[in-house]
Amino acid sequence: MVTDSIPKSRLLQAEYQKSDVTRDLQVPSDDRFLKAARSIEEALATEEAALVREACIAFLAEAAEYYGVSVPQVRVLRARPIRARESGGGTELFGDYHFEQKLIRVWMRTAIQKRVTSFGTFFATLCHEFCHHLDRDRFGFTETPHTRGFFERTAALYHHARATPASVSSGRRQGAGGGGSIGLARIWESSMKPLRRPGIGEETARLMAADRLESAEWVFHCRFPCAAVGRRWGGGCRR
Ligand SMILES: [Zn+2]
Repeated sequence: MVTDSIPKSRLLQAEYQKSDVTRDLQVPSDDRFLKAARSIEEALATEEAALVREACIAFLAEAAEYYGVSVPQVRVLRARPIRARESGGGTELFGDYHFEQKLIRVWMRTAIQKRVTSFGTFFATLCHEFCHHLDRDRFGFTETPHTRGFFERTAALYHHARATPASVSSGRRQGAGGGGSIGLARIWESSMKPLRRPGIGEETARLMAADRLESAEWVFHCRFPCAAVGRRWGGGCRR
């Protein structure tokens, strides 16, 4: 994973350190998150955005209730947008979180080929964005940096909800002045489930297999359009 650079102001440094050292995230002792995650997986297999959104709302409501925070809004959008890089090429946006509006957006299709994304990628993005929401509503941070702690809390939520073993890689921080808010998600790769599973159609399994190839280069993308955060972290995760 690549973490955000340490901010310059003392207040933000204190928050950054707190985020960095807060490695654990409490999870329920029952299977409420697992059931909600499974519903998202089933909805994604239908390739119907409305059903996926409905399942995401149910998961987020369940999670918000458990963590004692407000329920974030969610939009499930179709093909991922591509952002051009100054250096050439582009990046795909997987999801984002609007800090002031408490709004999560996730994309369910790949940018170029418009394939339905794998459940692992989609759900990891949703967990990632929800953890930004927890930074705001549970921890009371004024910004939500990608720290080692952030990635580990996100991993805890994701792996609990999928009943998969957690694996955590060591962090590498961006150089000073990088300010790019990058979140490499290689910690997730080992958790990808087998591609052929009962209940998953042939076509979806094929699409998921194709998407898994893409996951070799998989990273998180998110951005915080609120001005204060946007300035500091360059308004987005990118690779
Ligand atoms: Zn992020």
